[in-house]
Amino acid sequence: MKTFYVTTPIYYANSLPHLGHLYTMIVGDTLARSKRQRGIETYFLTGTDEHGINIERAAQKAGRTPQQQADYVVSYFKEMTSAFALDTEHGGYDFFMRTTYPFHYEGVSELWRRIAARKTPRGNDAIYKGHYEGWFCAACAEYKTEDQYQKGDPPTCLIHDTPLDRVSEESYFFRLSDFDEALLDVYTSRPDFIRPESRANEVISFVRGGLQDLSISRLKTSVSWGIPVPGDPAHTMYVWFDALTNYITAIGFGNEERERAAGFEKFWPGVNLVGKDILRFHAVYWPAFLLAAGVEVPRAVVAHGMWVDPNGRKMSKTLRNTIELDVLQKHFAVDAVRYFCLREMVFGQDGRFGYENLIDRTNSDLASGLGNLSSRTLTMIARYCDSRVPSGKIPEEKLLFAKRTGVDTDQTTVAGFIETARDQFLLHFENMAFSRALEVAWSVVARVDKMITDAKPWDLAKDENQKLTLGAVLYRAAESLRWLCVLLFPVMPQASHAMWKQLGLGGAPDRIDPSTLKWGELPEGTRIGDVQPVFPRLDKARLLSEINQPAQGEANQIPSSTSPATDAAEGVKTFIDIDDFAKVDLRVGQVLSAERLPKSDKLLLLKVDLGEAEPRQVLAGIAQYYEPEKLLGRKIVVVANLKPRKLRGYESQGMVVAASYGEEGRPVLATFTEDVPNGARLK
Ligand SMILES: [Zn+2]
Repeated sequence: MKTFYVTTPIYYANSLPHLGHLYTMIVGDTLARSKRQRGIETYFLTGTDEHGINIERAAQKAGRTPQQQADYVVSYFKEMTSAFALDTEHGGYDFFMRTTYPFHYEGVSELWRRIAARKTPRGNDAIYKGHYEGWFCAACAEYKTEDQYQKGDPPTCLIHDTPLDRVSEESYFFRLSDFDEALLDVYTSRPDFIRPESRANEVISFVRGGLQDLSISRLKTSVSWGIPVPGDPAHTMYVWFDALTNYITAIGFGNEERERAAGFEKFWPGVNLVGKDILRFHAVYWPAFLLAAGVEVPRAVVAHGMWVDPNGRKMSKTLRNTIELDVLQKHFAVDAVRYFCLREMVFGQDGRFGYENLIDRTNSDLASGLGNLSSRTLTMIARYCDSRVPSGKIPEEKLLFAKRTGVDTDQTTVAGFIETARDQFLLHFENMAFSRALEVAWSVVARVDKMITDAKPWDLAKDENQKLTLGAVLYRAAESLRWLCVLLFPVMPQASHAMWKQLGLGGAPDRIDPSTLKWGELPEGTRIGDVQPVFPRLDKARLLSEINQPAQGEANQIPSSTSPATDAAEGVKTFIDIDDFAKVDLRVGQVLSAERLPKSDKLLLLKVDLGEAEPRQVLAGIAQYYEPEKLLGRKIVVVANLKPRKLRGYESQGMVVAASYGEEGRPVLATFTEDVPNGARLK
């Protein structure tokens, strides 16, 4: 029996859900729905990764136990999946995995024991005890080699900019160095194992460069929040060993109850969807663990790109260019968000996401495109055909009339077009080229729109001799809509259902295999339903101003359910004490000189008088908005106790404070309207 198993990464339970999480969920959900639609028994897994030092610390900071911390974050993830119709109730995931479930402990321990009992391909013990000496980033949950950190005392993570932990202790190691050939065998014998191909090449050259053994435990005295090593409870398993294994424990590896509920035997191997930032863990460590244990490796590891803003910049809180889930939820239809995500990101590459683009696409492709095709077709059937689907055939004796108005009398022309489009659509879908698949579907929308515009049904309706021609045109449009409902169901489940109902059809598009669609199966005489716009047009100007207007008194409100902390290192949003604020030393400064930094269009180099013996050198990313000359003599606000850092070879001894607004994150310098001496403190 054919089955399909797809997973999202399990999300680290130290930060709230954000666009990245939503996106992977949408991709997994779309794949799962498309497989189910084709009659394939499918299992779709998502969940949370709940162990490790980072969660221990976040919990401590928030005054919770690690389990309470995990429960707290999980509640937000469940709210998100429900709000975006991705949970089981809405036909989405089959199981929400949590690594704190006891059956997971059993399964991970079983995997560890199997690996420990076996030899590597080179005949060595796969797990051995040694001593680890090095640097560890808690936020990445990764040991860092010299090229992966910024030197300093202590060194800092290149990704998180946070200090690394020195680790010097006894540790269990996984003999990864013995698995390079076995891994390369997998990559070369199965070109589809890592997708897209460009990413596969990165991984292959990484493995060819030689692999180092991997520390897979920490002393319980250093990290207690995790799964104990079987037979040696003084050690806690490395969080990635524990987390990756969820893909098999969730469906029953090492636990009979889960085996009965899902079925490891039935569903494994599965497809692991990941972001490109965690590809190495999934394409190198994970298959190596499985090879070591004698368990089949995944069917494929598929890495998607990241969302950047419309200008191609990384999204960050400081740039104010993040996409907020509560804004998406409040102002946009779930299906519009799904459509945008899949249409806008060429799978595997980075995609650009801005509210304005989302509004534009919703209006052009959905409201004016598909939605308009649906409502104009159905409205005309209601008006000219008494709300019943007319016959698609033009009888012999009326052919001449049809030809006279330029209507193609041969129905197979449209049918042929849409059949070819269907085949292409499915092929692209199979390759996860969602963007191209949707382009093809919209070529059908354009083709049918053109047919209607050329035939002018409103003119045909005035001529009794053209009644059957009119019917044929409307039948073709309605039958095309039926096909589109089926094709687009995995991408836009709610809208497809709505259009299906309006067409007056029974059953549902979610159980019709698109490859079995046959032209002409829309029954003549079907009574259509109430016609309503499926995608209402969005008022762009009004919506943008609503979105961009920061709610008054926002700071006083309890953070709403889905306002995300986008940066994993940022942790869960909590209030700060006055003492926390007092740690920031804000000072009044006066600009003594300002110049553009060579070869940078963003940075200005400022000399600022903070009332100290020497003026400070401060770099500010405001060059696109401020002429250097105009800043001379100006009073500004500087964060005076920010650790000096180097940008493009220049040291910045502080940070200029500015408001930031709009999609662009336009900066506006904070200043004073009354006279105030240099160096005065803000508090
Ligand atoms: Zn890091």
